Amino acid sequence: MSTKRDYYEILGVAKDAPKDQIKASYRKLALKFHPDRNKEAGAEDKFKELSEAYAVLSDDEKRGLYDRFGHAGVDQRYSQEDIFRGADFGDIFGNLGSIFESFFGGMGGFGRQRRSSGPPPGEDLRYDLELTLEDAFRGAKRELRLRRPESCEECKGSGARRGTSRKTCGVCHGRGQVQHATRSVFGSFVQVSNCGQCQGTGTLLEHPCDECDGEGRTMQERNLEVEIPPGVDDGSRLRLGGEGAAGVQGAPRGDLYVFVTVRPDPRFRRDGEHLLAAVDVDYARLALGETISISTVDGDVDLEIPPGTTPGTRLRLKGKGMPELRRPDRRGDLFVDVRLRVPGKLSKRGRELMEELRDELAAEDKPGWFRFRRTKDK
Ligand SMILES: [Zn+2]
Ligand SMILES: [Zn+2]
Repeated sequence: MSTKRDYYEILGVAKDAPKDQIKASYRKLALKFHPDRNKEAGAEDKFKELSEAYAVLSDDEKRGLYDRFGHAGVDQRYSQEDIFRGADFGDIFGNLGSIFESFFGGMGGFGRQRRSSGPPPGEDLRYDLELTLEDAFRGAKRELRLRRPESCEECKGSGARRGTSRKTCGVCHGRGQVQHATRSVFGSFVQVSNCGQCQGTGTLLEHPCDECDGEGRTMQERNLEVEIPPGVDDGSRLRLGGEGAAGVQGAPRGDLYVFVTVRPDPRFRRDGEHLLAAVDVDYARLALGETISISTVDGDVDLEIPPGTTPGTRLRLKGKGMPELRRPDRRGDLFVDVRLRVPGKLSKRGRELMEELRDELAAEDKPGWFRFRRTKDK
C-alpha cells in the first residue's frame, strides 16, 4: 500500500481548523475532482483521497485518533468501510450525492445506509462505562467484559447443521428480492421488495444447527480492551467499529458504543474543558495576601491570593483544567472562587485579637452602613 499523505495537507486546512472550514474546503476541492465533472486521469484517485481525509477529519472520534496516532491510529481501529461509514456527506453535493453510492460501490454506502438485501448485519451494542474525573483527565484503558452474539463455531455462522447447507430460496432464486410489476396511468412500474419467504437472505434452512438452533450465532463472553482518550466528558460516546454483535451468514458485524459517565468529583465542577473550584480563606489572609496550596486534578499547586482580595473574587489558574478531547496537549483553566471563612467559635486569645482588630479598623474606617437620606428633607 502506498504511503498516505497528511489529511490536513490534502484538504489544505490548518491542524486546528474548525469543522465548517474543513467541510467548505472539502466541498470546493471535491467538486473540482468529482468523477462526474472531471474526466482527467487521476481525478478519481484524488477525489477518493479527499473524501477519505474529509471522512476522518469531520468525525471527532476519528480526527482525535488521527491527531494522536496518525494514519496508523485510524487504520487500526477502522476498516476502510468504517472510515466512510457515518461520515456526513449529506448536503455537500446536492443532487450529485447519490453518485457516492455507485462510486464507492461495495463500501456499504454512506450515512448508515444498509444493504437492502441479504442477511441483516449484526446489531449495534451499548456498553455503559463509569469513569472518575481523574480517568477522564488522564485517559484510561479498560477491559470490558461483554456478552455478545458471536458467530456460531459449530456451523461457522451459517445456521445449517454440519454436513448440510442452506438451500437457495425457490421464490427469489437466491436474490433475496422479488419484483412486482404494477400498472398505473403513468405507465408500468417495477417495484422491488425483500423476499418474504427467506426474509431477504436468499437462502432457506432445512436442517438447523443444533448448537444455535439455526440462528448462526451464540452468546459468548468476550473481553475487549478499550482506550479512553483524555478529555472525555460525561455523555461522551465512543464508537468501536465492528465490535457489536456478529452478523449471520457472513453479514457484517454491528458496532459497539461505549457511553461514558464521569462520576462527579466533590472538589470540582466541570464546564467543558474548564474546572471550577472554591476555596475558603479567612479574613486575615484575604487582607494580607498569601500563597496557599490548592488541589488540582493533577496534584497540588500554589495559588497566590493577592493582598486585599474580596470574597467572591474568581482567580484563574491557566491550563490547570481538563484536556481538550481532540487536542489533549491543550488544557482548559481552573477557576477558583474565593470565599470568606468566618470562625464559628473563638478562643479567648482569638477573641481578644479580633476585638483589637475591630477597634483598630473602626478607628481608621467607618463601618460600611448605607445611610438612607430622605430626599424630601430640606
Ligand atoms: Zn450453529
Ligand atoms: Zn427468497
